[in-house]
Amino acid sequence: MTIDYPARRARLAAALAAHEVPALLVTSPVNVRYLTGLVSSNAAVLVRADGSALLATDNRYIDMTRALDVTAVEAPDVTGRLAGPGVGIEAAAMSVAAFRRLNEGLGEGAGLVPLGPVVEELRAVKDEAELELIRTACALTDQAFADVLPLIAPGLTERAVARLLDNRMTELGADKPAFDTIVAAGENGAIPHHAPTDRELRAGDLVTMDFGARYRGYHADMTRTVCLGEPAGWQRDLYDLVRRAQGAGRHALTPGAEAKDVDAAARGLIEAAGHGDHFRHGLGHGVGLEIHEDPFLGPSRTGRLEDRVPITVEPGIYLPERGGVRIEDTLVTREGGPELFTKTTKELLVL
Ligand code: ZN
Ligand code: ZN
Repeated sequence: MTIDYPARRARLAAALAAHEVPALLVTSPVNVRYLTGLVSSNAAVLVRADGSALLATDNRYIDMTRALDVTAVEAPDVTGRLAGPGVGIEAAAMSVAAFRRLNEGLGEGAGLVPLGPVVEELRAVKDEAELELIRTACALTDQAFADVLPLIAPGLTERAVARLLDNRMTELGADKPAFDTIVAAGENGAIPHHAPTDRELRAGDLVTMDFGARYRGYHADMTRTVCLGEPAGWQRDLYDLVRRAQGAGRHALTPGAEAKDVDAAARGLIEAAGHGDHFRHGLGHGVGLEIHEDPFLGPSRTGRLEDRVPITVEPGIYLPERGGVRIEDTLVTREGGPELFTKTTKELLVL
């Protein structure tokens, strides 16, 4: 499946009228990639309201632009080359220093216009080519977990388990891990974003692993919590509650649903069980060219979900000094019900 970059730029061009700018100077590297296919650390693309575009990059990347379907120019100062009177810029992607410098070059009354997440809003809804890449990233993630699971045993450190997952994902064809892999054993599981340490896994530990593969720029995100040895009653109860909450969140994931209502579907079960204070992060986030992108699911998040939006559902309960459980899948919204991308079982795995 090939990606239709001109169609993406046409969608952006159509969105510019609402912002009353003649063109948008795109400088976010991820957004430049999305609109042109160029992967670089120094490039910008000017997309005009008529749909035409000009890409600028320096001599390290200019040869790569020849294969792209966009006009490109070589310029060491990519934004200086493309900035013009009244042009919109991505406020979140440009430093104040760069903004001032470019405005000085344009003169009085002709300044750049800082805009919000215009391209990010277009990126939230994926085309089928993108969904196929995320599906593959998730399949690599599932496979790496299946391959590493038999190796997980008491005596291994959290860092060793993280390394096994990272190496296996890369061996299977991932670009690299989608983010810093989390492995949290026992009491460390009470910290939602615990960084792996030299703590050894022990019998009786709940072990939470949050990881994912990146494949051709697209991200997967999955969390599973397993138990080393027979779970205690409280561990099984905690797991069952998170699992039910995660299922409720997944079922609420329909085009048209409000972001906060999806969050509430899962959070309500956790609150009703008296663990509201032990679940203090949002329910999920969009995934795509970035690991965390629009839309976000949380109690105060506004907006409605659209069709073809890849998103995570990841409730967790964290008991200070005891441990925690989180279960996370990557799915995509579909009319008629979400498609599950991460397919690893959600039964409590007892190792
Ligand atoms: Zn995750
Ligand atoms: Zn996540």
